[in-house]
Formats: sequence, C-alpha cells, structure tokens
Amino acid sequence: MCAQIGKRREGVGGFNILMPVSTLVCFHAHPDDEAIATGGTMAAASARGHRVVLVLATRGELGEKIPGVVPEGWELGRWREGETWASAEVLGCHRLVFLGYRDSGMAGTPTTRHPEAFCQMDVEVAARRLAAVLRSENADVLTTYDPHGVYGHPDHIAVHEVGKRAAELARTPRLFWATADRDFFVERAAVDEALAERVGGEGIEDVTDISFGLPRDEITHRIDVRDFAAAKRAAMRAHASQIGPDSFFLALDDEAFAQAFGWEWFVLAGGRRNGPFATDLFS
Ligand SMILES: [Zn+2]
Repeated sequence: MCAQIGKRREGVGGFNILMPVSTLVCFHAHPDDEAIATGGTMAAASARGHRVVLVLATRGELGEKIPGVVPEGWELGRWREGETWASAEVLGCHRLVFLGYRDSGMAGTPTTRHPEAFCQMDVEVAARRLAAVLRSENADVLTTYDPHGVYGHPDHIAVHEVGKRAAELARTPRLFWATADRDFFVERAAVDEALAERVGGEGIEDVTDISFGLPRDEITHRIDVRDFAAAKRAAMRAHASQIGPDSFFLALDDEAFAQAFGWEWFVLAGGRRNGPFATDLFS
C-alpha cells in the first residue's frame, strides 16, 4: 500500500518526496503462469516500491492435478484461486483480480468450445473488464504475452489480444509482451541436460528446434531477477496442485534454478532493439 502513497506524493509541491513509483499490471491466463513467466519481475518491482497488480483471466479449472493436494469435494478452479492468493502474497502483489472466464483447455479439445471459455470471449467485452482495472489503477505498465501466447495455448493468445485492446481503451502508456529467449534456451540446453529434456529433448541445435518464445533479436527487454529467484520459486511452490516437489522447477538446486530461471524477457509492443537489451520496464 506504500506504493500508492508514494505515487500520490510524487510531484507534490513541484518536487518528488519519494522515489518515483509506478504501477505494474501483469495479465495472465491461468494461476501459476504469473510465477513462471513474470514472478521475478513482479517481486523485483514490488521490492523497489512499485505497485504490482495481478490480473488472471481464468482460475485454471482444467489444469492437471498433482495427486493428493486438492481435498475431496473441492472444484479445482476454486482451489487454485487460493493458491494464487498465496503466490501473489509471496511476490509482493498489492491487488489480485480474476476476470471470471473459464480455462479453455488445450487447443483442439472440446473444452475450447465451452461458452464461458476464455478463448471464446468477445475481445471487446473482455478488454473492457481489463481496461477498468487499468484505469482504476492508473497503470503505467501492462504485461501480456507475445502474439503466439509464448507456446500457443489458446488462452495465452487471447491474453495477447485482450491486453492489446485493453491498453488502447485505458491509454496505458507501456505495453509489454512476456516471452522467452529461444537462443538462451538453446545455449542452456547445451550445458544442462535436464533443461534440454524439458524444452524439447535431444537434438536442440538452434532456435528453429524450439517452438516457444521468440528469437533473441525480436526481444527488447531482459530483466535480471536472479536476486528474486527465491520468491519466484516460492510462488511456484504455492501452486502445489500443479507444480509438485519433484517437478523440474522445484527439483533443481538453488544455483541451477537461478541459472535457468533468473532472467525474464519482454518485448515492448511495437519496439525494436538496437544494441543491448533494455533492463527496466518502467523507463
Ligand atoms: Zn497458462
């Protein structure tokens, strides 16, 4: 809540009393996406005093359950809502909003045709819901996903489309697409067998072998979140119904985790990079 106070005070009497404070809104498709894709960026922004708002399109009703976590009788979406509150707290979020859509499930499955499925929504209607949050927060920065939804999930592609329209409606100054640096994963896969297995098995030689994220040339921002790797991992752990202790994310030792997941990548919508990565979403 300090972040809001800081924001109000900025410029009072013609000078800044506190460090300039911005508001970051991260828009995600399903619970746990926030921890995996932007958890470090959110934790770092919060630690720097910025206001951080997490918006989820769905409750991830169709996730595959880790056995023995969700108590008998609980709907998975309701349970995952609670996991998201815990993740948001770990990441230093100041507000959590669910837009109320339903997990569409994987492309090509019948669940994508459910009338409440996020990928079936009217983009304009969904964008108005998100724009209402952006306006109420006077958001400076919105993050969504790249045009392929990072790896092609229909709800992630919908996040890209809805986010783009919402940023227009709310006149949010800076729109970023969260993505992954394919070249980074090619380089890491060469020295990290477990990671190679995870991102595509044997035979990864160049970026054309990786279908998620974007080539490095197309990425404008790289955020170093190694100092926030512990918070990022704790947020992943909060999603216990999806990410088990034996999972790739949680089984790595701290050093290996920071090496593999200590960077987060973004594209400034409409931006190009000439030279090194930019390192700050706010300036
Ligand atoms: Zn997702």
